[in-house]
Amino acid sequence: MDYQKLMAARMAQLAPSATLRINALAKELQSQGKPVLSFATGEPDFPTPPQIIAAAEVAMRSGKTKYTATPGIPELRRAVADRFRRNYQVDYEPAEIIIGAGGKQELYNLCQVILNPGDEVIIFSPYWVSYPEMVKLAGGIPVIVEGGIETGFVPTLAAVEAAITKRTKAIIVNSPNNPTGAVYPRDYLQALGQLAVNYNLLLVSDEIYDDLVYDGAHTCIAALSPEIRERTITIGGVSKSFSMTGWRLGWAAGPAPIIKAMTDLQSHSTSNPSSISQYAALAGLTQDIPELAMMQAAFRRRRDLMFEQLARVKGFSLILPQGAFYLFIDLRQTPGYTTSEEFCAQLLSEQLVAAVPGEAFGAPGYFRLSYATAESDIIEGCRRIAEFIARR
Ligand code: PLP
Repeated sequence: MDYQKLMAARMAQLAPSATLRINALAKELQSQGKPVLSFATGEPDFPTPPQIIAAAEVAMRSGKTKYTATPGIPELRRAVADRFRRNYQVDYEPAEIIIGAGGKQELYNLCQVILNPGDEVIIFSPYWVSYPEMVKLAGGIPVIVEGGIETGFVPTLAAVEAAITKRTKAIIVNSPNNPTGAVYPRDYLQALGQLAVNYNLLLVSDEIYDDLVYDGAHTCIAALSPEIRERTITIGGVSKSFSMTGWRLGWAAGPAPIIKAMTDLQSHSTSNPSSISQYAALAGLTQDIPELAMMQAAFRRRRDLMFEQLARVKGFSLILPQGAFYLFIDLRQTPGYTTSEEFCAQLLSEQLVAAVPGEAFGAPGYFRLSYATAESDIIEGCRRIAEFIARR
C-alpha cells in the first residue's frame, strides 16, 4: 500500500518536533547503556511537588474522574483569573479563560479559530519549534522576523513593522523565550503592543515561562493597557512552573468571543483536559507550594554555572539569559564550524552530549542547551563540550 497517497496533503509540509526527536535519540542511546547527558529537553527535572500529587489522589478517590466542562472546571478558571490579578493586576472573567491539555493545545486551538487560508502571522526567530507548524496547519503563512544575538535576541521594532502587510493577522511573542532565554524589556513590549493597536492585529503572548525570570520582573503584555489587552491572547500553564509537563495542563486568556470559539473547537477534539490534572493544577495555583521558589532558585544557580563554564569556550558567543531554562549559543566562530546540525550530531556521537541545533528554531549557526538538569551533569556536560571544541 502507498500510505503516502492516503495521507492529507497538509502533512507533506509538516515537520515533526525536532526537540522531541533529539530527546528520543538520546533516550535510546541511554537505554543501550551509554552515559548520555541530555541537555535537549524542555522540561524541569524535578518531581511534581507532593501537595499537587496529593490533590490528584484525592480527586481520583473522590470520583473526580468524569468528563468536565469543556473549557475546564469553574474553580480552575477562577484560580487562573486570580493568578492574573494577583501577579499582574489584570482582570479576567472566567468566561475569558479556557483550560486545555497544555499551553500547546490552546495555541493550536487559537491558530485554528483565528486564521483563514493566506493569513500571515509574524513569528520572531529564533522561535519555539511549534509556532510555524501550527500556523501552517491552520492554513496561515508564517512570516519570520529575525532577532539574533546582535540585537539581544529581540528583533527591532522597525523589522517587525516592515514585515506587516494587509494580510497580517497576528504577532506571536514569547517572553521569557524558548530557545534563547531572553526576557523582552517592558518598553519594547509596550511599543510592540502599540504597533498591534495601530495596525489592528492580534497579539499572541506565550508566557508559559512567566514564573522563571531571574533578573527583573515578568511583563504580562495584556496588563500594559486596555487597548493592548483587548487584542491579546495570553498562553500559560503549569508545565514549567510546577514541573508538571506530563500532566498536560495549560490555559489561554483573552477576549470572550475568541475563547468561546476555542471552546467550541475543543468540544469536538479533546472534550476537556484530564479531570485529575485539573484538580492537581488547582492545588498548585491555590496552595502555598514551597517547591516553586526552590526550583526557581535552582534554575538560577544552574544558569550561572552553565553560563560561566561555556562563556570560556573558544569561539562560543553567548549572552546571559534572564529567564526560562535555556542557553542559546552562537557557534559560527568555533573552529571547524560547518552547520549546527552537524555540530550537534557529532557532539552526541563523540561526546554523548545531546543538544538541539539552531535549525530547529529557524536559527542556523546556534545551538540550544537546557539547564533543567542536575548541577553535576552541567559540570560534566560543559567539560565534554569544551573538550570537543579543543579537539577541533
Ligand atoms: N510555549 C513554549 C515556548 C514552550 O517551550 C512550551 C513547551 O515546551 C509550550 C508553549 C507548551 O507547554 P505545555 O503544552 O506543556 O503547556
